[in-house]
Parts: sequence; C-alpha cells; structure tokens
Amino acid sequence: MTENINKEAIKIAYLYEDLMNTYGDSGDVKVLRYLLNQQGFNVQVDNVSIDTKTFDAKNYDFLFFGGGQDFEQTVVAKDLPRHGETIRNYIEAGKPMLAICGGYQLLGDYYKTSDGTTIKGLGILPLHTVFKADARMIGDTKYETEWGTVAAFENHSGRTYFDDKNKLKPLGKMIEGFGNNPEDHVEGMRYKNTIGSYSHGPILKNINVADAIAKMIIQNYQARTQVTMTE
Ligand code: GLN
Repeated sequence: MTENINKEAIKIAYLYEDLMNTYGDSGDVKVLRYLLNQQGFNVQVDNVSIDTKTFDAKNYDFLFFGGGQDFEQTVVAKDLPRHGETIRNYIEAGKPMLAICGGYQLLGDYYKTSDGTTIKGLGILPLHTVFKADARMIGDTKYETEWGTVAAFENHSGRTYFDDKNKLKPLGKMIEGFGNNPEDHVEGMRYKNTIGSYSHGPILKNINVADAIAKMIIQNYQARTQVTMTE
C-alpha cells in the first residue's frame, strides 16, 4: 500500500527461529504477517538467536517463541538468560507475546525432561513443567477461549502446572485433548498480553485468535512509534 511506504514496519522478534521450529510454528508468524500486510502494515521479522549480539525487546511490537525438541531447548536455555531481563520487562509492560510449547515452557521456572535433566527457564511466569512416564500428549485438541473455540494439535511430553493461579489464567478450557497436563483440563496460559500454549497446527490458523493478537500488535506498534516520534 503506497501510503505506508515511508511508515516504519511493525517489528516482530522471532526468538531462536532456527532452533525452535520443529513443529511448524513459523506458520503463526506467516499468518500474522499476512493479516498485518492486509491492513496496510509492512512487517519486519528478526531472528533473535545464539549469534545475535544484542536484543532490546522494547524495540519490537511482538515476540514469538515456537516449540522445539528437548535437545534444542537445552541449547536455547543456555543462551536465553542474557535476554531474560529485556523479555521480562517487555512482558510486564503488557506488550504482546506468543510462546508455543517448548517456548512456553522456557518462560516458566523449569522443565524436567524424560532423562531427568532440569532445563532452567527464565522464571518470568510462575509455572513449571515435568515429564511423567505414562504417555506423551499427542493428538488433536479443542478448547474454549475468550475469543471462541480453538482447534489445534499438541505434541509434548512435558506437563505444565501453574504455581500461582491468581497471577496466571488458562488460555482455554479443554473440550478435547490434554492441554497443559492431564489433570487440570485447561490449555495454555494468559498473563497480561502474553499467551502461552501447547497448540501447534499452527494455532493461528484459528482466525479468531490471530485477529485478537494482530489487534494487540497494532496497538503496541502505534504506542511504540508515537513515543519514538515525540522523543
Ligand atoms: N520438548 C518439549 C516437550 O516434549 C516441547 C515439545 C514441543 O515444543 N512441541 O514437552
């Protein structure tokens, strides 16, 4: 769209895109890019990874953190703490973030894996994840959210439990599948404008959720670029 040619792009930071994308979650970023482009915004996506020297989350309008296998999570968890403070400040400021599966787990305190390794998370969200030997949670999921029904796919061995149920709210109530764990019958997490979820598929093929997140991103973009203009 010509009127936006000189407008600064909406900036998305894709955390560890090269390591945390075993489950096709890059589709979420593609859906958002499409929706935002349709509304006349240019979109820039930066991969923030092991070789990224500095990362300041407040320069971004959206953070995305996809799912990954235990091994890749171990690699990412070693590098992640250097970005912990900027991600924490971003989340606490109420800016939008979507973290899927392995990325969701890494925002919590820890993930104890099938081989007994404890992967330390950023500890921003009061939740923890543990492996239990009975079954991997794999299959279709369906759940009810504030934006309506969501249909997706889950594939995880970690079971996530909230340690502060006043602070963290579930993203949805299960209709089908496991979600966070087999006992609580809830899926994912909402804290301010940060959403954690076990949903692949990708989750944002559910246009109700994609539209809600695109709206949050535009609001954040407008706030960020207005501040920049008056600085
Ligand atoms: N490796 C983690 C688990 O199995 C996360 C999996 C995922 O991101 N799909 O629980």
